[in-house]
Amino acid sequence: MALRMEGVARSFRAGGETVRALADVTLAVERGELVALVGPSGSGKSTLLSVAAGFEAPDDGVVTWDGEPVPRAGAGASRWRRDTLGIVAQEPQLVEGMSIHRSVGLRLEAAGVAPSEAQRRGTRLLRELGLGDRLTHRPEQLSTGQRQRAALARALSTDPQLVLADEPTGSLDSQAGRALVELLRRVAHERRRAVLVATHDQRMIALADRALTLEDGVVRPAPRDATRQAG
Ligand code: ADP
Ligand code: MG
Repeated sequence: MALRMEGVARSFRAGGETVRALADVTLAVERGELVALVGPSGSGKSTLLSVAAGFEAPDDGVVTWDGEPVPRAGAGASRWRRDTLGIVAQEPQLVEGMSIHRSVGLRLEAAGVAPSEAQRRGTRLLRELGLGDRLTHRPEQLSTGQRQRAALARALSTDPQLVLADEPTGSLDSQAGRALVELLRRVAHERRRAVLVATHDQRMIALADRALTLEDGVVRPAPRDATRQAG
């Protein structure tokens, strides 16, 4: 059953107005599939990922992982975020002043991986994402696209069951973008992980197993031909 959202609603109050980002979202992402979440800017994609991750509570509806509510606070949430979830925010979060290699290594060590193995895995993932010559760079020394890839390496390092990525190819050139899409496909298909990616990237949409559109706070299947035409 993997990830399930049912009847999820989420509104924000800002400047005396209420913005309904999610009205009634129902979706499922199974292990082994890469699902693209498509929608215009401001349609609620980031909010949906954040609610799916348990970072934000829905006003209504339920979010479950393997049939259990996704924990949002306390030790349960820390464990879930460490052991099950790999998330890349739209604004990649890395530790300032720390090399990206160390940043990936620390996440692995926090998950119980021995330091030498953590180093090895970190190097491999960062290389795979085209950052082999940037291992000792700190986030503030990197471009947005490089930071995004480093954040993805960090998120994927623990081989999480659920991967949530927010416009991960948004700042990448076509070669780096293609490598990233292919990596996420392998994670879904070979590792049998559940992967949900907010994106406008036509390559991602074309190579995803399914595409969903988020509009007016509701998610619907996007017929692949229609998304291509919308190009
Ligand atoms: P997307 O990722 O598709 O661009 P978002 O989920 O970021 O959309 O935002 C959806 C809507 O919710 C937007 O109108 C945005 O302004 C509003 N919103 C998102 N987060 C907040 C917040 N913390 N406070 C107020 N409004 C927010
Ligand atoms: Mg967004």
